[in-house]
Amino acid sequence: MAIKRTSREPARGMEDRKMFATATVQDNAYDVALTNFDAAADALELSQDIREMIKYPERVLMVSVPVRMDNGHIHRFEAYRVQHSSVRGPSKGGIRYHPQVTLDEVKALATWMTWKCAVVNIPFGGAKGGVTCDPKHMSIGELERMTRRYTSAILPIIGPEQDIPAPDVYTNPQTMAWMMDTYSMTKGYAIPGVVTGKPISLGGSLGRNEATGRGVFYTVQSACEHLGLPLQGARVVVQGFGNAGSIAAQLLYESGAIVIAVSDSSACVYNPKGLNVRELIHMKTLTGHVGGFPDSEAIEPSELLSLRCDILVPAALENTVHGGNASSVSAKIVAEAANGPVTPAADHILEDKGVFVIPDILCNAGGVTVSYFEWVQDEQHLFWEAQDVYNRLERVMKTSFRDVLKIHTDRKVSMRIAANMLGIGRVAEAVQIRGIYP
Ligand code: NAD
Repeated sequence: MAIKRTSREPARGMEDRKMFATATVQDNAYDVALTNFDAAADALELSQDIREMIKYPERVLMVSVPVRMDNGHIHRFEAYRVQHSSVRGPSKGGIRYHPQVTLDEVKALATWMTWKCAVVNIPFGGAKGGVTCDPKHMSIGELERMTRRYTSAILPIIGPEQDIPAPDVYTNPQTMAWMMDTYSMTKGYAIPGVVTGKPISLGGSLGRNEATGRGVFYTVQSACEHLGLPLQGARVVVQGFGNAGSIAAQLLYESGAIVIAVSDSSACVYNPKGLNVRELIHMKTLTGHVGGFPDSEAIEPSELLSLRCDILVPAALENTVHGGNASSVSAKIVAEAANGPVTPAADHILEDKGVFVIPDILCNAGGVTVSYFEWVQDEQHLFWEAQDVYNRLERVMKTSFRDVLKIHTDRKVSMRIAANMLGIGRVAEAVQIRGIYP
């Protein structure tokens, strides 16, 4: 994931733009988000006035987070919270801890959250937060102190009615527990609804931890049905074996798919006859990585993406499949568990190859959907059974898949532009009805 910004290609003809977003950039997620917005807005024939109102973040907060490290010295971390939209409700989005977090990345992720919440038709807008740090080289005490100081720095703009954080890359239920505690101590009473993805004992929802992967699974089921591809025996490759990727892999494996390769940031493991995903998850939980898994061979990351398979699940970071490697992808379906893993240039190449892409703002929307269920349960102080959560999630994901597929087939646009048209169209409608203040 590079952060260099380059200029965008001049606008092409309408037909081109309707099929795909066109951009030469492959390396700046925010450019990609804006490019995809323009393509969908053109296809929707949105007025310039509406575009002005919904395209850009409503609020961007950049904060310094000084933390006393274990060696006794203070280290300052740079951190962000971006609220892209509150048009349809409180803004909502995860918190990322990663060395490559930049303001542009957080703006892109916040923008995608807005369209994603609208695609699955939940009453939230989009937000995202991030701290530029290397959590793998920090102690638990340092992580806790950083999380609490970051929470207090963004505290004026978050809250259950305002903006609700959740986990993202390298943050987890424990991170959310520290955030909830810091916020609650400042207010003077327990406010579980300020974050989602919390531990169950603090008002978390059953099914939230596995919600993103489960949502990916439901959309893959729908895509297989649409394409007439049996899931039983389908060959699957998963890049990124964290929360989203490992659960998607497990559910696909339990449905009879053959997971032939997976990777994390340290290794790629491959077995053409299939990996035992349950055992792999067990090993990853114990050791923290997938490398050295018995009955597997180590391969290079570039080989992993070009393995012959039916379903490729990018579940790590942005820009995984780009103009330089998309032609080597030989999957029938690319299911975007990660946000922004396929660049606009790669979209063109995959379309030419006939690859069916389930776009991120649809594919990984299961996480925010169950976050919404968690927030509803917290607000009502009434908690649901796990099966109830799964049933509701399946209904939302499969209905949303059908809605996007209908636009894709009726309007002859890519699945990505179709999903953006659905999400952006709903936000545009809401802003039009609300009007402009003052
Ligand atoms: P996570 O921290 O649980 O896992 C990330 C995984 O990616 C780790 O296994 C890590 O080793 C691996 N990874 C990092 N860099 C890699 C690389 N270059 N190659 C291969 N693997 C690499 O994070 P997560 O929550 O699973 O998030 C993964 C993606 O899913 C992100 O794009 C995130 O925004 C998206 N997402 C997550 C959620 C959620 O609820 N957690 C919801 C929607 C979308």
